[in-house]
Amino acid sequence: MRKGTIAENLRAVRERIVTGCSACGRDPDGVALLAVSKTRPAKDLRAAFDAGQSRFGENYLQEAMEKQAQLADLPIEWHFIGPLQSNKTRAVAERFDWMHSVERLKIAQRLSAQRPGEMPPLNICLQVNIDGEESKSGLAPAELSAVAKAVAELPKLQLRGLMAIPAPREDADKQRESFEQLAQLLEQLRTELPEQPLDTLSMGMSGDLEAAIASGASIVRVGTDIFGPRK
Ligand SMILES: *Cc1c(COP(=O)(O)O)cnc(C)c1O
Repeated sequence: MRKGTIAENLRAVRERIVTGCSACGRDPDGVALLAVSKTRPAKDLRAAFDAGQSRFGENYLQEAMEKQAQLADLPIEWHFIGPLQSNKTRAVAERFDWMHSVERLKIAQRLSAQRPGEMPPLNICLQVNIDGEESKSGLAPAELSAVAKAVAELPKLQLRGLMAIPAPREDADKQRESFEQLAQLLEQLRTELPEQPLDTLSMGMSGDLEAAIASGASIVRVGTDIFGPRK
């Protein structure tokens, strides 16, 4: 990637989104940019916010909570995107707007029970292990339908869609296949749960956001190309 300031990098990523959308005839307003700020200091998030970025994704709870305290003056939309142990759900229920990485019903049940009554429902994506990788978290496609139906019943959650981190592939067409599969799974869920606002495909990162957009991504999660390489 080009090395620039955070504001310049953000502008370049937004341009990639616009170009990616026009390549496949999509409206760029249908693709939200989530700035993935794991390992970055609060001042980097503040610089991105000042450059117009309001959605941030964090993977590690303790680190996220420290930054939330430092940035409490900003109206940031916080997304949790990392693995979460069931004994850590309360902080996510109390402090985040979105949770992208639900992969067990038990986590969803706890998030719903712990979401404070005065807050709106927590937006949920179910994480799918789309390439069936041993090392990766996420629901198997075959488990998805039953878990989605159960999550849809939980009062303080709003099921919005699916999230995946596909295996890296050399070949762009192969990369597309995983994204297309996730899009098909969401299509299927829509027919099974017609009452739910299933409008979200959280997929695409710095290296593959164009392929994800071509397959219907509605949230792309970009870290490196905004903030630079992580240590
Ligand atoms: C780190 C991370 C990203 C961002 O990846 P980059 O390649 O730095 O853009 C996106 N999604 C998840 C779940 C991540 O953990």
